[in-house]
Amino acid sequence: MKNIYLLGATGSIGIQTIEIIEEYPEEFNLIAISGYSNLEKLIEIGSKFSLEMISVKDNHDADVIKEVFPDIQIVFGEEGLCELAKLNENDEDGVLINALVGMVGLKPTIEAIKIDRDILLANKETLVVGGHLVNALLKEHDAKLYPIDSEHNAIWQAMQGEDTKKIKSLIITASGGSFRDKTRDELKSVTLKDALSHPNWNMGNKITIDSATMMNKGFEIIEAAYLFNISIENIKPLIHKESIIHSMVEYVDGSIIAQMANPDMRLPISYAMFYPKRIKSLIEPLNFDKISSLNFKPVDYDRYPLLKLAIDCFKIGGSHRTVLNAANEAAVKLFLNEKISFLQIEEIVLNAVQNHQTIVDPSLEEIYDIDKTIKKEIFDRYNK
Ligand code: NDP
Ligand code: MG
Repeated sequence: MKNIYLLGATGSIGIQTIEIIEEYPEEFNLIAISGYSNLEKLIEIGSKFSLEMISVKDNHDADVIKEVFPDIQIVFGEEGLCELAKLNENDEDGVLINALVGMVGLKPTIEAIKIDRDILLANKETLVVGGHLVNALLKEHDAKLYPIDSEHNAIWQAMQGEDTKKIKSLIITASGGSFRDKTRDELKSVTLKDALSHPNWNMGNKITIDSATMMNKGFEIIEAAYLFNISIENIKPLIHKESIIHSMVEYVDGSIIAQMANPDMRLPISYAMFYPKRIKSLIEPLNFDKISSLNFKPVDYDRYPLLKLAIDCFKIGGSHRTVLNAANEAAVKLFLNEKISFLQIEEIVLNAVQNHQTIVDPSLEEIYDIDKTIKKEIFDRYNK
């Protein structure tokens, strides 16, 4: 029986995680959850499980939730997320599932590592901004970090039983996002609604926009570099519009091992939750009689400047990754609130990165300071 501490329970990944917990009540015990703006969902989940802790946005929401669940410990804010991550410090069966969106997931991840708690990570922004800190801490502690992100989960599966020193490259597939068939010129007039209709995946709003700009693929390349300790030169994106092959590992002998399945996040989530066991999944199996072809196309970096920028920021290193992420979080939020156009996301992020003087190996404090400053500058300028 695993005890699940779930950050971001009310989101797309969080809700699918709960579906799996409900399907296998003898395997998982949900102990604690966090939510942010969706109190209704939080209450719905809280009513189904006997929880020990709920973390909410702020003091006010904490009072609301306390009324509903007087016997559950209610915490709030960033501090609350950290308390949840390290609740029951000595729980040997405890696993943290980090399904938060944004770099707010970094501190709780660090807290869990410090108490030697394994983490199933969906929250890629954590590694984008703090991969150097997370990896350094993992070396000192017993905690393990397992990926939920479908590409990384596929790579992890394709590495089972292999000598990872014999890996030549990782091939990270990309659907191309909502606008994959549009030219850059056509992007000038796209709307929020268009951007939110992803052809293959039904995900949270931020990652759906990140997929349309392909910043998501840039983040995933950085994520893979930290997770698998592989040089970024050997991590290659590849457009594969069907999202059937979730990624591939190329070995020195020329063999390429791919993981395939219908695009459904419940598979990577449950693979990570049950690892090293495999279970009968809730997802629809692949039917090769119905797949007429699988398509592949090299990435055009001029078409997706944020993908190129993310790779460049990783190469520059240090706080450039913080700025990349902070500007992107702010710009995507502005786009979701219809304050800026789609192409302004790129403009804002490129501008922030170009104006930054990098700090090598930024500390957690420096990361949070830079994040705050960059977001404030962008919101002050555009949030009118
Ligand atoms: P959602 O936006 O659907 O959910 C995010 C969760 O985080 C929600 O529970 C939300 O609460 C909470 N949250 C949002 N902002 C804050 C904040 N400032 N402080 C605390 N909690 C907050 O995101 P997804 O589930 O789509 O994605 C989660 C992570 O997983 C992201 O990093 C994403 O890139 C990654 N990922 C997602 C995939 C997917 O299929 N969705 C696939 C692969 C990776 P509330 O809803 O109550 O506001
Ligand atoms: Mg992914």
